[in-house]
Amino acid sequence: MSHPASAPDDPYDVERVRRDFPILHQQVNGHPLVYLDNGATSQKPRCVIDAISDYYLRDNSNVHRGVHTLAARATEAFESARTRAQEFLRAQDSKEIVFVRGTSEAINLVARGYAVPQLKAGDEVLITEMEHHSNIVPWQMICQETGALLRVLPIDEQGELSLDQLDDLMHAKTRVLALTHVSNALGTVNPLAQIIRKARDKGIVTIVDGAQAAPHMRIDVQKLGCDFYAFSGHKVYGPTGIGVLYGRMPLLREMQPYQGGGEMIRKVSFDETTYADPPYKFEAGTPNIAGAVGLAAALDYVDELGLERIARHELTLLKYATAAVEKVAGIRIIGRAREKAGILTFIIDGVHAHDVGTIMDHQGIAIRAGHHCAMPVMKKFGVAATTRASFGLYNTHQEVDALVSGLHEVREIMGT
Ligand code: PLP
Repeated sequence: MSHPASAPDDPYDVERVRRDFPILHQQVNGHPLVYLDNGATSQKPRCVIDAISDYYLRDNSNVHRGVHTLAARATEAFESARTRAQEFLRAQDSKEIVFVRGTSEAINLVARGYAVPQLKAGDEVLITEMEHHSNIVPWQMICQETGALLRVLPIDEQGELSLDQLDDLMHAKTRVLALTHVSNALGTVNPLAQIIRKARDKGIVTIVDGAQAAPHMRIDVQKLGCDFYAFSGHKVYGPTGIGVLYGRMPLLREMQPYQGGGEMIRKVSFDETTYADPPYKFEAGTPNIAGAVGLAAALDYVDELGLERIARHELTLLKYATAAVEKVAGIRIIGRAREKAGILTFIIDGVHAHDVGTIMDHQGIAIRAGHHCAMPVMKKFGVAATTRASFGLYNTHQEVDALVSGLHEVREIMGT
């Protein structure tokens, strides 16, 4: 059972929230740790660490096959985690939740298992210019195999999708639209419901990369109307190695498994194998049971704290940080979308992003520097790399102040 720091109606008490995260209370290079790399992975509250440890201390067994008490407990914990993920995404049925390693594996599963059997030479797969490599490379791989063509919806100078080009790019040959909910490199929140409605009207299957949305906003897959939705546990305060693919049941029934093994079958002989029903036919082998248990505890944690309140807190930080960072001379913010999640990306004239990252680390500040697995976004803005501060539910205004004074220090040290 999780014990979030404040009940939904309380004002947001970030100091109490921080007490739930043991890792935050340490010095790095002689300074208090300022963790602003939540877009890459978030830290874990004690309730998640405890849930995983309790599972191993008390309940550990393999799932589904055993008749003994520990097997029943492990199965119950694993399947309740599935129900928890279903509630979190507002899906209709827990059987629409497939456990995977993370967003990347979820997208690969849909590309291989759903798209490959449907695609013919000349068909089209539509993605956007702001995708993470995880939502580019799997589609490129299967396009090469099937002769389908990869089309890309461009972004504009603000870092928003060029929606005026959408109708031209979605036509009779378009089979799949794969797009991100929130851009990891720009922070842009895409108007998904509107885009998905258009795709559905044209019979195009939609898959949403929700890796950067799940930690920051309420998701309702039925309201969105998407066919598939993917997210990773480790970005939403859960453990690594566990993630979720939601799929609408009729599509999961059509989708083929791309890994065979135990757990995913109904009957096996040397002549023929029949598969189990979804989601099990996509979960070959022993799953990450402790990961699912930890993920359920993380989803409890954010839900009890309140995703709407978390979003409000992070947006206040983003606004405060944007105003302060843009006052630092020589800084250009990349990504000025009207709707953004807690991600602030920028470059400093004459300083490589890696140098910014290293100098910040000397001050105990963890930020990310590089291409953020979104090289096409870097190309669009004419840069090789950027620096990214990404906010989480435990970040504070004082930490934003530390970021800003860190940036002044970078300019001083680098003489810019
Ligand atoms: N999509 C986006 C937008 C991401 O930010 C990330 C990770 O940074 C991924 C996909 C891949 O997630 P994972 O590495 O957990 O599979």
